[in-house]
Amino acid sequence: MRLGILGAGQLGRMIALAGYPLGVRCQLLDPAPDTSASQVASVISGRYDDPDMLDRLVTRLDAVTYEFENVDIAAVEHLDGRVPVRPGRRALEVAQDRLAEKSFFQDHDIETPAFAPADTLDELRSAVAHVGLPAVLKTRRLGYDGKGQVVLREEVDIERAWELGGGVPLILEAFVPFERELSVLAVRGVDGDMGCYPVVENHHVEGILTRSYAPASDLGPELEERARSYVRRLLTDLDYVGVLALELFQAEGRLLANEIAPRVHNSGHWTIEGAETSQFENHVRAVLGMPLGSTSMRGHAAMVNLIGALPTADQVLAHPHTHLHLYGKEPRPGRKVGHVTVRHDDPEVVRRTVERIRGLDGTL
Ligand code: AMP
Repeated sequence: MRLGILGAGQLGRMIALAGYPLGVRCQLLDPAPDTSASQVASVISGRYDDPDMLDRLVTRLDAVTYEFENVDIAAVEHLDGRVPVRPGRRALEVAQDRLAEKSFFQDHDIETPAFAPADTLDELRSAVAHVGLPAVLKTRRLGYDGKGQVVLREEVDIERAWELGGGVPLILEAFVPFERELSVLAVRGVDGDMGCYPVVENHHVEGILTRSYAPASDLGPELEERARSYVRRLLTDLDYVGVLALELFQAEGRLLANEIAPRVHNSGHWTIEGAETSQFENHVRAVLGMPLGSTSMRGHAAMVNLIGALPTADQVLAHPHTHLHLYGKEPRPGRKVGHVTVRHDDPEVVRRTVERIRGLDGTL
């Protein structure tokens, strides 16, 4: 079978790699010339909004998927009807606009931080009155890894924040003094079959994911089930096909939804070694209409991102129970260039190993 992928970064690369053993050939499209995925699969270099490029991409494909959520809806419309685009358009529309996303959560009884639109200075003032302070002002579109965000602590911050961010559609959210950040990944097939990976705990530095622990320690069955029921509801109500990630804040027994990613997700990289079927393989299976694989864990796992600098393979692999994944990218400050999975049946061994290897790339 043949799968098209919009985007040829490390996620596209890992999807393509997961496809090979299943006999799936991937054809990727990316505007950048030398991408992480071009080292392992066929990549057409071209713009996503160029109809000729999209026409070249879809030749003899069974489905098209993507590795990033800001896919142009016009591109999806161009492809739709000729080849199935999975996950579908509805999930993209929801994920591309933080206001649509939070409203979707609210409409489906998924708890969120208080929020309000803030497209004008007056609207921002009423949003502050509604949401309270402290609060986070975010761009509704195109924000990622904490970019396009500013925290408002006092009334006097309102105008300054407006000057920094005003002019594009914004959303104000209550600042959540969370205990930790969690995510839950799930997959849904064409026939509606679903699988859910265990909830994981995520650590960020300056908005960038640095480490994930699977499963999240001491979550308890009630919160685990609540997170899973949230993501199942999203998959069903979006008539979703593929892997979806839901990011959550845990605060005083509450789980507040922050955002979804309608794609494979960095907090699911541990599944390559730590689950019966990786998120990448399950995504390929789902979007091509194959039966899904088990999402059960194999013992315990953690994922450590390599950001901005590359340790040598030996530096990582000298530590038992580690698995190295390099993306073939030139290191630059803040750039994800690889990750390490630690897997062991004993969670203490996993934690100790993470402590030994974290910081090998210079981050904390
Ligand atoms: P986002 O781009 O929405 O994923 O936000 C990036 C990071 O900013 C999150 O991973 C959180 O650490 C933090 N953050 C986002 N929204 C909030 C909020 N409402 N309250 C507290 N922290 C937040």
